[in-house]
Amino acid sequence: MTEPKLEGGCQCGAIRYRVTGAPVMAAICHCAMCRRASAAPAVAWAMFQETQVAFLSDRPTTYASSPAGKRGFCSVCGTQICFAADYIPGLIDITIGSLDHPDQIAPTLHYWDSKRLPWVHFADDLPKFPEFPPVG
Ligand SMILES: [Zn+2]
Ligand SMILES: [Zn+2]
Repeated sequence: MTEPKLEGGCQCGAIRYRVTGAPVMAAICHCAMCRRASAAPAVAWAMFQETQVAFLSDRPTTYASSPAGKRGFCSVCGTQICFAADYIPGLIDITIGSLDHPDQIAPTLHYWDSKRLPWVHFADDLPKFPEFPPVG
């Protein structure tokens, strides 16, 4: 059995990565920090074990967006690539939008729905968590 591999990267190509196997979680986050970091109304994340993710280039530049969390982005073009936090040890979130084929991972829930912009409505029946859900 070969596990599925997906590749992705930033807009300019300076950052490239490969993920192996299925994500632990795939979700749309409505929190204010994701919104600001991406300058987008919401951000879709695929969470993996760190061991599932390999950077094929330099690692992204990181910014500590909170005491617990670090965001990785391309220092050349600004694409947001990843997120890691003390409260999800051993795990790393990858932006679904930075995948070469983002259609291959579909979110299965929404979180931080309590921070969702009033004009953002996704036409799905996925569960909505007001804050960060239990991971597992
Ligand atoms: Zn770039
Ligand atoms: Zn968020």
